[in-house]
Amino acid sequence: MSKLPNVGTTIFTVMSALAAQHKAINLSQGFPDFDCDDLLKKLVNEAMEDGYNQYAPMPGIMPLREVIAQKIHSLYGQQVNPDTEITITPGGTYAIFTAIATCIGPGDEVIIFEPAYDSYIPNVRVNGGVPVLIPLSYPDYSIDWNLVRSKITPRTRMIMINTPHNPTATIIGWEDLEELQKIVIEHNLLVLSDEVYEHLIFDGEAHLSILRYPELLRNSFVTFSFGKVFHNTGWKMGYCVAPAHLMAEYRKVHQYLCFSVNTPMQYGLSGYLQTPEHYLSLPGFYQQKRDYFLELMKDTRFTPLHSKGSYFQLMRYDRISDEGDKDFATRITREFGVASIPVSAFYENGKDDHVVRFCFAKKKETLEQAAERLRKI
Ligand code: GLN
Repeated sequence: MSKLPNVGTTIFTVMSALAAQHKAINLSQGFPDFDCDDLLKKLVNEAMEDGYNQYAPMPGIMPLREVIAQKIHSLYGQQVNPDTEITITPGGTYAIFTAIATCIGPGDEVIIFEPAYDSYIPNVRVNGGVPVLIPLSYPDYSIDWNLVRSKITPRTRMIMINTPHNPTATIIGWEDLEELQKIVIEHNLLVLSDEVYEHLIFDGEAHLSILRYPELLRNSFVTFSFGKVFHNTGWKMGYCVAPAHLMAEYRKVHQYLCFSVNTPMQYGLSGYLQTPEHYLSLPGFYQQKRDYFLELMKDTRFTPLHSKGSYFQLMRYDRISDEGDKDFATRITREFGVASIPVSAFYENGKDDHVVRFCFAKKKETLEQAAERLRKI
């Protein structure tokens, strides 16, 4: 018996293992190869030393929820109640799963844009839901809202969005959110907005969080990650924001999934978030990495697509080979020692546009060494 008969091992584990096996530079799975801020580690250590080592309250410690509410107010102009509308979670992936488990049951349809982060579809299926897959238009990966409208049925319950988007590194526009709002209100749908790359957004663009739109927020779960933005993906820390009536239901599931999230890290993060510069500096920091990677890749035969946010840069390789992207990514890991992610892994039917995803959340030297190897292809 399997609830997920067609699911294998996630591509991130597969490619990271292949990278390790071949001692390749790992630009596949999205994680930084540099350490997080010493100050943040110190704050966590202090919390441990000070004895904050027992269960945190089920929704998370209040100082952390309060500072998140302040951040939301200053960045997105929204008053969110830290008591009833924010829950701290063990990571963004958990926050997403819990939102789906909270409201999706047998036969409920969930609109998912593809390429999609690889946990979304299995998360819906394991809860008995039906993923309704809508392709983003290659190569700009824009949303065709007429297509979305044509897919709405009486069983449609939720639309999932992700901005900045993994794997395509696109960001959602004002026009998209207006369309989304019209559809959500007309059909009384829920929105699950995955915003784990919230602060990794480039070229002066604003992050168009659902939190800016009170009408949309009324029907939404919005999920975030500390690991992605503060360079400590191994800590598995994140949070979910939703209006009180949805959050009450969310917490019914959360309290029996993990009950609460580790305490000292919550204290450390609450101290760290007191200084807005710690997150306000992130767009510039990551934009430099993107620009440096693009500069280094100029002398290769890869063709970059736009990267407007996230850790990622998509590259076409049609000037190099006509192999399928999985074969290509596997071969360059083995033969040239650089691991990437084949974008077809983010399509249930394996649609292959001959594009691979590189993660540039790496030290300068790592990017330099990777580019040197990629120039030989
Ligand atoms: N979000 C990361 C990525 O896209 C991977 C996270 C994971 O491996 N579960 O690469």
